[in-house]
Amino acid sequence: MSQFQSIDVADYYDKDTFDRIEAFAKDKPTPFVVIDTQIIAKQYDDMVKNFPFANVYYAVKANPAKEILTLLRDKGSNFDIASIYELEMVTSIGVSTDRVSYGNTIKKRVDVRSFYEQGVRMFASDSEADLRMIAEEAPGAKVYVRILTEGTHTADWPLSRKFGCQNEMAYDLLVLAKELGLQPHGISFHVGSQQRDIGAWDSAIGKVKSIYDRLKEEHGIVLKMINLGGGFPANYMDKTNELGVYAQQIKHFLEEDFGDELPEIILEPGRSLISNAGVLVSEVVLISRKSHTALERWVFTDVGKFSGLIETMDEAIKFPIYTDRKGELDKCVIAGPTCDSADIMYEHYSYGLPTDLAIGDRMYWLTAGAYTTTYSAVCFNGFPPLKDYYL
Ligand code: PLP
Repeated sequence: MSQFQSIDVADYYDKDTFDRIEAFAKDKPTPFVVIDTQIIAKQYDDMVKNFPFANVYYAVKANPAKEILTLLRDKGSNFDIASIYELEMVTSIGVSTDRVSYGNTIKKRVDVRSFYEQGVRMFASDSEADLRMIAEEAPGAKVYVRILTEGTHTADWPLSRKFGCQNEMAYDLLVLAKELGLQPHGISFHVGSQQRDIGAWDSAIGKVKSIYDRLKEEHGIVLKMINLGGGFPANYMDKTNELGVYAQQIKHFLEEDFGDELPEIILEPGRSLISNAGVLVSEVVLISRKSHTALERWVFTDVGKFSGLIETMDEAIKFPIYTDRKGELDKCVIAGPTCDSADIMYEHYSYGLPTDLAIGDRMYWLTAGAYTTTYSAVCFNGFPPLKDYYL
């Protein structure tokens, strides 16, 4: 019996949806991503249903396509923005700036000024220099301070080390914010993207609570908001809990710490709203072995680390890959098309690929709607950026 488990598309998409995507993809030259916006609409509705007490700020970085931004705008979403360029994307479709939070802790003075001039009033920070700059360029704005969290090892794509500060520093920054004439508004964290341990929110909320209490007792500062970040799940290989389980437990953690005095709760989902909606279609360019006796096949395809699949770095995100072939599954290395030896997605793809896979076959990378088009290089080795289509 094969040690590899075959991918059943039915675990990821209902039949009609996948048939529709496959039919749409049929004659188009690869590689490209097809995104079914109906799935995004459903994911958004699920998020709102499961977290009725929270306000959603879509993390635009996951996929800023106009089709997605427009859909989420019409559904009433707010937007978590990382740069002046993303701000332009949302304002150009008529989103008012009171629906925007500038969530990047690393920002230029000129950009903070521009955000403020355009009406943005909510800014993230995690350092004194940044906070002082916000006070000068965005006087009186609301600020929330990002804290460091644990759970790095249980997130497929950790995010905490580069961003956030220790509790003590967060406390001092919120006190300083008040002294500088800003509004100390709240605390944010991100437990890491595709966080598999829901307990990561428990310890982060506990940290938030202790800062809340100390600020109130020692300075009379009453914070008004907690930003629980992203980290909610998408359907990659090794599926994790459903969103409903996340919501139920997180609600319980909040109640344990804040009782019925819950501040405003903000969520910043990216991956969980968009990933499931996308299928990336590529083509097998070459299949080879390193010697006549080597067991391992190398499967080269026309999409790679530099054309949208950077999240396969360290095999962090494990995309389910479906092909039409039905042969026995066997081990292989899966690599991209460029002349760069880092352009290898999986050294040992744990589901294997069919032994009868052939040059010219299509590979369907499921759950690929988020962090693919945005990570695609403009023209590394001359390859164009990953094309995207929206249904
Ligand atoms: N919020 C911030 C500040 C982020 O940096 C990110 C991702 O990088 C997100 C939200 C979205 O997280 P996720 O894709 O895990 O939902």
